[in-house]
Amino acid sequence: MILPEPVVVPRSEHGISRKQFSPNAVKVLYRLKDAGFEAYLVGGCIRDILLGIEPKDFDVVTNATPEEIKRIFRNCRLIGRRFRLAHIVFGQEIIEVATMRGHHSDSPKGNNISQASDEGQLLRDNVYGTIEEDAERRDFSINALYYSIDDFTVRDYAGGLAAINARQIDLIGDPETRYREDPVRMLRAVRFATKLNMQISPATAKPITQLAELLDNIPPARLFEECLKLFLNGKAQENFTLLREFGLFKYLFPATEQAIIDDTDGFVLRFINQMFANTDTRINEEKKVTPAFIFAALLWVPLRKHAEQLMQNDNLFVHDAYNVAMNAVLSDSAKKVAVPKRFTIGARDIWHLQLRLDKRSGQRAYRLSLQPKFRAAYDFLLLRVECGEQELAELAAWWTNYLGRDVNGQKDLVKTLDERPARRPRRRKPKRKPNQS
Ligand code: ATP
Ligand code: MG
Repeated sequence: MILPEPVVVPRSEHGISRKQFSPNAVKVLYRLKDAGFEAYLVGGCIRDILLGIEPKDFDVVTNATPEEIKRIFRNCRLIGRRFRLAHIVFGQEIIEVATMRGHHSDSPKGNNISQASDEGQLLRDNVYGTIEEDAERRDFSINALYYSIDDFTVRDYAGGLAAINARQIDLIGDPETRYREDPVRMLRAVRFATKLNMQISPATAKPITQLAELLDNIPPARLFEECLKLFLNGKAQENFTLLREFGLFKYLFPATEQAIIDDTDGFVLRFINQMFANTDTRINEEKKVTPAFIFAALLWVPLRKHAEQLMQNDNLFVHDAYNVAMNAVLSDSAKKVAVPKRFTIGARDIWHLQLRLDKRSGQRAYRLSLQPKFRAAYDFLLLRVECGEQELAELAAWWTNYLGRDVNGQKDLVKTLDERPARRPRRRKPKRKPNQS
């Protein structure tokens, strides 16, 4: 693939000023320049500034190798194997510095520089090259815009400025080849389309459904990272819908997709859509969101189905059935998306509490309310009611009432609960006579 001559836009015409960059990123650019290297800001930050969005982070690209970068910056960490790059650390902020990538064809195969699978997937992408080659190796044209610290121009190698104006997500080069090199680009296309309010161009959209299964070749840990980006960027509900439209979702959460297909009254879709809608609202209000809640909700119906089967077929008691089902559902899901333990622990807590929230007498309500995931479990209960589990409405209303009271009020409420005549008198097991059986 040979890209046409770049469009070079001078400072007077692109309207980007250095004030819009993070001061640390500017520092990195000048340090590299002073050491005699080329350095550019590239990718999301330039794209976002041109679209009037505040960039999430600043990525730098240079012709210095990772080892050369390490020599220039004391606060530098080299990371990655598939794609080696440098992190320059400034307290909370990390500036990512990549070395320009080149083509793979003329480098020896099967080494730690360049490696591809039989499907054309790049397993190592550490062949260095020129800025022109680097631009060709980027995913979408809108992501191949470079800001030069040398002459303050914006260089557009792949028609990114036109794509921004047309609001189009467009892969650079032949879409099928580019998806085969890295199937995660299919997820990125969805994420950028919703984040930037753009359309995926027809040529870039067309191969996705057919190639979706290539996601099976991506390490589950990388898919987890992508899922977090898809679910925590304030556009989770739209991402979920688009992922399903393209047939991508079932390669991330097959059991959930199956539950949606098997569902007869629409509960699963209502539940997940509402969960993502709530997530988006919280993110956009800058409130905290716990990924444990999201994964608990995505796997809730598969979990329940599995637990019910165990109760019916294997005569397990509720808690045992749910414990066995949690292990099964989580380990099955981890084959696709590796959710780290700190989040699966949270998901288990939320699920366990669903089984316990009706045990409120005596000190129990108070003790439940002290559980670390109580608040999440209560929100989960509200969500279930909102999406159609009417039989839980009374319980949810009770907890809402409880949480709205002071300590004495809470005690009074529990007292009325304790004094309420039991609906069914408890049947005691008849005492066995000592010498019976
Ligand atoms: P954001 O940070 O808002 O998610 P971004 O475009 O900065 O968006 P990053 O994942 O930070 O995305 O990547 C930075 C740049 O690296 C991208 O703009 C793109 O040019 C390039 N890039 C990232 N991932 C890939 C990929 N899988 N294939 C090709 N190029 C990629
Ligand atoms: Mg970025």
